[in-house]
Amino acid sequence: MRTISKNNSYNSDNQNFSYLLEQFADIKIMRYPVPGFEELTIQQKELIYVLSQAALCGRDIIYDQFYKHNLAVRRTNEAIIESYSGDRETNDFKEFLVYAKRVWFSNGIHHHYSTDKFFPSIKPDYFAKLVKQSKSRLLPLNKTEMVDGFIARITPIIFDVEFDKKRIVLDSSKDIIQSSASNFYQNVSQKEAEQFIAGFNQPNPDQPISIGLNSRLVKENNQLKEQVYKVGGLYSAAIEQIVFWLHKALPLAENEQQKRSIELLINYYTTGDLKIWDDYNVNWVTDQLSIIDFVNGFIETYGDPLGMKATWESVVNFKDLEASKRTEIISNNAQWFEDNAPIDPRFKKKEVKGVSAKVITVAQLGGDCYPATPIGINLPNADWIRKHHGSKSVTMENITYSYDKASEGNGFLEEFCFSDEEIALAKKYGPKVSNLHTDLHECLGHGSGQLLPETSGEALKNFSSTLEEARADLFALYYIGDKKLETLGLISVFDEAKAEYNAYIRNGLMTQLTRILLGNDMEQAHMRNRALIAHWCLAEGTPDKVIEFKMKEGKTFVVINDYQKLRLLFGKLLAEVQRIKSEGDYEAGKILVEKYAIKIDQKLHAEVMERFKKLNIAPYGGFVNPVFIPVYKNYTLVDVTIDYSEDYTQQMIRYSKEFSFLPDSNPN
Ligand code: ZN
Repeated sequence: MRTISKNNSYNSDNQNFSYLLEQFADIKIMRYPVPGFEELTIQQKELIYVLSQAALCGRDIIYDQFYKHNLAVRRTNEAIIESYSGDRETNDFKEFLVYAKRVWFSNGIHHHYSTDKFFPSIKPDYFAKLVKQSKSRLLPLNKTEMVDGFIARITPIIFDVEFDKKRIVLDSSKDIIQSSASNFYQNVSQKEAEQFIAGFNQPNPDQPISIGLNSRLVKENNQLKEQVYKVGGLYSAAIEQIVFWLHKALPLAENEQQKRSIELLINYYTTGDLKIWDDYNVNWVTDQLSIIDFVNGFIETYGDPLGMKATWESVVNFKDLEASKRTEIISNNAQWFEDNAPIDPRFKKKEVKGVSAKVITVAQLGGDCYPATPIGINLPNADWIRKHHGSKSVTMENITYSYDKASEGNGFLEEFCFSDEEIALAKKYGPKVSNLHTDLHECLGHGSGQLLPETSGEALKNFSSTLEEARADLFALYYIGDKKLETLGLISVFDEAKAEYNAYIRNGLMTQLTRILLGNDMEQAHMRNRALIAHWCLAEGTPDKVIEFKMKEGKTFVVINDYQKLRLLFGKLLAEVQRIKSEGDYEAGKILVEKYAIKIDQKLHAEVMERFKKLNIAPYGGFVNPVFIPVYKNYTLVDVTIDYSEDYTQQMIRYSKEFSFLPDSNPN
């Protein structure tokens, strides 16, 4: 599970590193520094280097998982960028470049966040001209295909408004598999997929494997069949490269347990065996000693409408020892937080095991974490492993820091805060308390609570991600205003909680709307979660005017009148969401989400968009990676240096040359 940026913006101190690189469409591209890399040992640096190579080798996988034509579109764009012989100074060509940049950013033709298909603002005939005046040997032509035939094939993929128009459809009145453009299922209906999953026999029901996690489900000759992602299976060419670099990591491991983790991961990639994936996760989550750490695999299931199949991702990082003291305090008190949570005792863990939490410095992002990245991760996802072995929770502090630096002085707070006091609180405490929220969400929130023995982990189906994120956020929000945090020295005054409550509610009711096209519904799980919490508290608190909309100079603002009552509302909703999860009450979950988290007030939305537009801030952000350069002397590696000079387009083009291993389409 992951936490993603909330689009808050704060101000902070000095600047001598250029954080913001460029802005196009609704996206800003940033750069993140890797403080502390120079102080690592040469072996640690080399380990980061080889793991960062492994992190880049799966890039093509995510394109193909998102949509079966994504690689072909990306390669067409790149062929044009590299070889188009016509005029590159025209407006049309610049618009084409914006489209190409957006495709890179989303790892495909559907928006990375809304999952709606987006379109170039050029005409199909101009695009055809670009293709014709580029080198045909660079185009992703089928075997016997001529350029004209290729243009006829690719044009509707890029331009047709109705054709495969959404990557993930969660509308429960539809067949969410067949109406989603993502590539986890082929020729399979939702009913068939659900039956296939239900018919699966768990060899050990106490330790259920994550069925279907690493495969595509297809129907061939009326037979359902899984195409497993593994060496020799689907995506083999990319996975072989990942395995190659993982082998290089083995002798560099910091300790035996880390070495064992890498061995198990190699074994899993080689066999596709999900039991080995669980063994790997158990071994990985109990490794508390390693400074260098990484994830690399098919992990998060947000991309699958049914929430079963995982997209490929990688994050390479090392521990920030100083900042981790904060999360260690939280983890060390995990049992206290569990015991005192405002939920039914039946749903509490009697013993919270090994909630390990740390602050990390990200060194490389790959797959579904690149260029748009989470700011926190909590893994593994399997409930039984979390229950018996705990989970590892990380806060990616150099990423959040870069977000803050890149948004300095952008006018966002001044536009959307009701009072000067609110602005002052946000500036003074915002970044700090936002990190604390992430820590609580990741270290405690996701790890808290338990399912009743008879409840299936899949009971909440298409609402599970939203409700799980709500549960973790509510846990964080409830405790951020708790005296206990002062006792633990994590916050100094209640004003800090106020700053977080202001930011959260303002975002959930208003400012996150800047991420949605006018007229659209709320779709993304994290956004739905925030809308759910904010709107539910608004409605429940109405008799006491806990939260109010207020008008000033014709503009709408959100005002919290009673922070203590709001905190109790967070606790009350947490109790209900926990009950829904623990009992697997799909109907109640559906009602909550549908009532509070999907429909948007059109008038308010239009106003927010208008105000936001004037600030000229891109609502989404992503990062280019630093480049690690091995330094050799007499064929021996003597150092690894880090270089930040690569820009967005250079990096994308280079990745497509050096780390592209899959064919244009991957039927099996
Ligand atoms: Zn989360």
